Amino acid sequence: MTTLHNSKEAPTSDTPDISPRQFCCAHGIVDTCILDRDSSRRRFLQTTIGGTLAALATAAGVEFATPHPVLAQSKLSPSAALQELMDGNRRFTSGHLTSCEQDLAILKQNTIEKQEPFAAVLSCADSRVPVELAFDQSIGHIFVTRVAGNVVTPEIIASLEYGAAVLGTKVILVMGHGSCGAVKATLQGKEVPGQISALYPHIQPAVDQAGPNLEAATKANAKIQSALLRQASTVISGLVKEGKLKVVAAYYDIASGAATLLD
Ligand SMILES: [Zn+2]
Repeated sequence: MTTLHNSKEAPTSDTPDISPRQFCCAHGIVDTCILDRDSSRRRFLQTTIGGTLAALATAAGVEFATPHPVLAQSKLSPSAALQELMDGNRRFTSGHLTSCEQDLAILKQNTIEKQEPFAAVLSCADSRVPVELAFDQSIGHIFVTRVAGNVVTPEIIASLEYGAAVLGTKVILVMGHGSCGAVKATLQGKEVPGQISALYPHIQPAVDQAGPNLEAATKANAKIQSALLRQASTVISGLVKEGKLKVVAAYYDIASGAATLLD
């Protein structure tokens, strides 16, 4: 079985020959990925394996699965895990994605039996917040929970506790976003069909705190939900106290694609 190559490993003879077609992209941006592949591969060759190996590899016509900095996911510190997310977001906003260069077949194969996501994200369900894409991550890297308004419920706590205590996520990002319909609806407090208004009580404290400005209320909500997560879960608060986990609030600008930390 082939494995994704670690940046510290030299290429071996069983390095898979990955054609551009196999550099399939999970995010429907294959053109960008293939266009960007050569420059990324050059960077990789220059920075990780040195001139001699690069020359040998080039001479042999060997293609690599692009190494990913979080292969040893469970060994990242909470700060490093957060940094990896923010670095990924910078790659996303600058249009230099690297996650799409990873071989999805290999990533799938390596995660059949286990998963070791380095980070968890509690996001709104909004379709304009593509979590993995926004942080330039791929299969097995982020444990994502989503609910409209990114509110903390017992089920969300249970999921994030599982992510942290069992799977070893090192950071939980609670992320609100621009133009959030759930926060807007809570601000307006209008009659809505079905059970949509069940979200209101979760978001109302942020509206009470921040007032009628949508962005301010959305940011307040992310911070309140983040604090609630730290307080309501003994598992999460325990890991935070031990320095094994960070819980951070963030705001995602849907126009620029930039995530900003709020804490
Ligand atoms: Zn939303």
